[in-house]
Amino acid sequence: MSKRIALISLQSIDRLEIVVTNCRKSLAQVKGETGADYILNGGMWNPDGSPCRGLMVSGKLLSNTPWGNVPGYAWDGPGDIALTTDWQSGANFIAVSPMIHDGKALDIPYAAAQGGKRGRSAMGLVNGCLGLYCSSDGSVDASAPEDLQKELLGLGWDSAMMLDGGGSSQCDFDGQQITATRKVHNWICVWTKGATKEADEKEESTMSKIVCLDPGHGPGNVNGSPDGAYKEYEFTWDLYTRLKPLLEQQGVTVVCTRTQDQVPGLTARANVSNRAGADLFVSLHSNATGGGGWSSARGFVAYTSSGPETAERNQAAVDILDAVEAQGVVLFGTGKPYHELFTVLTATTAPAVLLECGFHTNQEDVALLSDSAYRDKLAAGIANGILTCLGIDAVEQPESGEPDQPSSWAKEAWKKAVALGIFDGTNPQGNLTREQAAVILDRLGQLPEQGGG
Ligand SMILES: [Zn+2]
Repeated sequence: MSKRIALISLQSIDRLEIVVTNCRKSLAQVKGETGADYILNGGMWNPDGSPCRGLMVSGKLLSNTPWGNVPGYAWDGPGDIALTTDWQSGANFIAVSPMIHDGKALDIPYAAAQGGKRGRSAMGLVNGCLGLYCSSDGSVDASAPEDLQKELLGLGWDSAMMLDGGGSSQCDFDGQQITATRKVHNWICVWTKGATKEADEKEESTMSKIVCLDPGHGPGNVNGSPDGAYKEYEFTWDLYTRLKPLLEQQGVTVVCTRTQDQVPGLTARANVSNRAGADLFVSLHSNATGGGGWSSARGFVAYTSSGPETAERNQAAVDILDAVEAQGVVLFGTGKPYHELFTVLTATTAPAVLLECGFHTNQEDVALLSDSAYRDKLAAGIANGILTCLGIDAVEQPESGEPDQPSSWAKEAWKKAVALGIFDGTNPQGNLTREQAAVILDRLGQLPEQGGG
């Protein structure tokens, strides 16, 4: 692996510090001496070994040569870290080349020597986590600053800053390493809470999860089958109405990006998810091949904004693909998540997945997509995949019509029937078979004995 990305929940961080070693210690030495769980090379330095751009460690200002009024990360503790131009707002401050602020791309300030395709290191904030990024110099994952910025935007990072790169890029993320021989000036070090970390995660799992569902398009949209019989926006709304109760039955809070008659823009849809603090965003669509006529491509496909395959969004996509396939749904192409920088995927802070449930330009798929029982299968598969990815063990729901209590209007009669031994008192709303009806009539004395001669 020539690239590593770590997302560390801010709540699980015990200490977040800049460790200065003045170019005298290797990554292995820093690991051995500090025992930090996550280590990443930090800021830049001058040929004489003095640090440059902005650097303050535990209240001591070591360098203050920022690129002008551009932000760096400031913090006292892990709970208050922020990308800010106010370098005195915390005891620690590091400024190199900021790339993303409030989820938006910045003009990246960097010197010529930092440009080109090189190993890259970055830190950032994403969805309540500290993000650490490292790619190896000279590897396939080396990239230009602008490409790194695009990648981190695609991963939904709220803010990000490129650190020193090239031959300096190296890390140890909880044992997963990218190694280099260079002894750098300073290191970003993170110690997690260990045992208490697991307790926190357990507690979190009992809290209600929020899923934002996005029924694609809306009234007036022309996407549909070539013969005009099937409309994508009608399908996506109907699928949403089937999916929502399946999630709510399992204690999931469902937020929707629109009402049935609304057609919000793509960024507005992402904002609904972001404001709700959703744990997962799922956009519902059906697919089309170009050309306007019928075509042979068919099957279910899931999109996310980018790799790596270990990213939460890609794991969510795989969980959903596995679960819909288990319902007998045919998958398109490789059956693995595909990557596209769709706005609803890149503008959402939650892990985001866009599902194309079949091709409305394929006659076989349209027949399925138009079928109520098939829509139920899709809803069941997608719901199961979402529950798996959220770590929720689905609780079996009682079959509708089989509650333990009779309806209020039937209580009196039910009591009498049980007292007379016509029913045994269970399953008051169960269906009655013809043989059961015969036994009831017999017990009521309505069936005369057959004459036997
Ligand atoms: Zn669509």
